[in-house]
Amino acid sequence: MEKQTLISIYATELPENETDDTSCNDIFHEGTETEYRLAIRAAAEQISGFLKNTNKPFSGIKPAALLAEFDSISLDNPLPDYKSLFAEINDLYIKHATAFHLPEYIAHLNCPVVIPALAAEVIISAINSSQDTYDQSAGGTFIERRLIDWTGQQLGYSSQCDGVFTGGGSQSNLMGLLVARDYYALTYLDHNIKLDGHPATAHKFRIFVSEKAHFSNQKNASLMGLGEQAIIKVATDERFRMDAVKLKLAIQQEIEKGNIPIAIVATAGTTDFGNIDPLTAIAHIAKQHNMWMHVDAAYGCGLLLSEKYRHLLNGIELADSVTIDYHKSFFQPISSSAFLVRNKLHLKIIKHHADYLNPKEQDYDELPAQINKSITQSTRRFDALKLWFTLRLMGKQKLGHYTDKIIDTTEQAACLIEGSHHFELLSHSDLGVLVFRYIPQNSAGTDICAMNLYIKQTMFFNGEVLVASTKVNDRFYLKFTILNPLTTIQHIQNILTIIKKHGKDYEQRCHDTANS
Ligand SMILES: *Cc1c(COP(=O)(O)O)cnc(C)c1O
Repeated sequence: MEKQTLISIYATELPENETDDTSCNDIFHEGTETEYRLAIRAAAEQISGFLKNTNKPFSGIKPAALLAEFDSISLDNPLPDYKSLFAEINDLYIKHATAFHLPEYIAHLNCPVVIPALAAEVIISAINSSQDTYDQSAGGTFIERRLIDWTGQQLGYSSQCDGVFTGGGSQSNLMGLLVARDYYALTYLDHNIKLDGHPATAHKFRIFVSEKAHFSNQKNASLMGLGEQAIIKVATDERFRMDAVKLKLAIQQEIEKGNIPIAIVATAGTTDFGNIDPLTAIAHIAKQHNMWMHVDAAYGCGLLLSEKYRHLLNGIELADSVTIDYHKSFFQPISSSAFLVRNKLHLKIIKHHADYLNPKEQDYDELPAQINKSITQSTRRFDALKLWFTLRLMGKQKLGHYTDKIIDTTEQAACLIEGSHHFELLSHSDLGVLVFRYIPQNSAGTDICAMNLYIKQTMFFNGEVLVASTKVNDRFYLKFTILNPLTTIQHIQNILTIIKKHGKDYEQRCHDTANS
């Protein structure tokens, strides 16, 4: 990456930092509009520099070298002007920031973002509404509610659904498990956990997830005081989806042990394989056993946008609750996520336990308040506005075409990898994740795991291509996560060529060492 000295004319026009502490020149108000506009323009200029000068997804800088840049900085000595501020942040951060928008970034679940959402960010932070109560958000409350209703419609929920924006999928999953647990205790044990804490049998509560479910489920069970022991991992099929027959068996086994199955978390789009658990079959099993069904669609929610592939989520409408991460699959900037319930009365469990089942007892607050729906946040950002801007300007269909493109590119890539004797592919994907590894041509004596780790790290510190990795059956694999409609099959072809080159280099080095 080139050295950037892209400080704009705007930055130099900015007034110097006032020394008079009482002038309130830095507070956003009607008297500082000019300063505000110049600062925002300067920030946008800086971003232009990031776009123009960044041609690799990562600069390749090593942590020690980056950390050393911080040595000379004292937070107690403010900089004289915006010019020096932007220059400093360029060195500390922007120059080395991972560029998710480049096609060669195919590592983690970070999507490129759409421009209307970025425009919304400017408004969100300046007006700074808080979504907890109507008197702190007004129209923000209704924008959020309309987006939740819209998302519910996409899921196939009736108008009885409800939900709330959250900070991310882990938080939404926590809400799912919390409501599931409290609902179970209230309905089947006549016990109010919110008021009275866990019943004596709580240590027997069991939550079923697949082996490939997100780790937030364990963390959440532990946060809830159930312990990770409450999570039962169900084996997966050949595409790493929860095996419904094994789920039934696992539930049976737990019942025989005297434990109490309370919930199933199905994953719609696993982080490692992008595949979707059999939602309809799981919903039937949940119903048979009076268990809550939560669907973690943090990743797979993007399919809601697609006409071509929406059917892959069939059955999601049967779930009691769903996690949606717009910041994973709706091209939204972080944070943007939601938790939805099929029956809005269930969301009330977290507010009014005693009367949650009685609609007549609903509170008729004069002012609507989203805080009643949010467990983990009080003051809450108006993230919903980003999605509003996106849908109002671009529409669902355009986003859906991006999603289709990503899925189609991934399938082409899967065929390329599968068709090459240099690679071993573990599974095709319903979404955009491919787990595979490079296989040496003369594999005798070569540590394939070490070789693939070498390939990944070499590409990372060259900054040329960023891929992720995962372990399956204790073996190290490379992982592509394709979330960018700008990533084409040609890019993938180039990336595979680079992987082969580093693989061959590694083989050569091992060969040379062995012969020396
Ligand atoms: C990313 C992810 C999560 C966690 O979401 P965050 O927004 O990172 O908190 C949960 N589940 C799945 C399947 C995910 O891919």
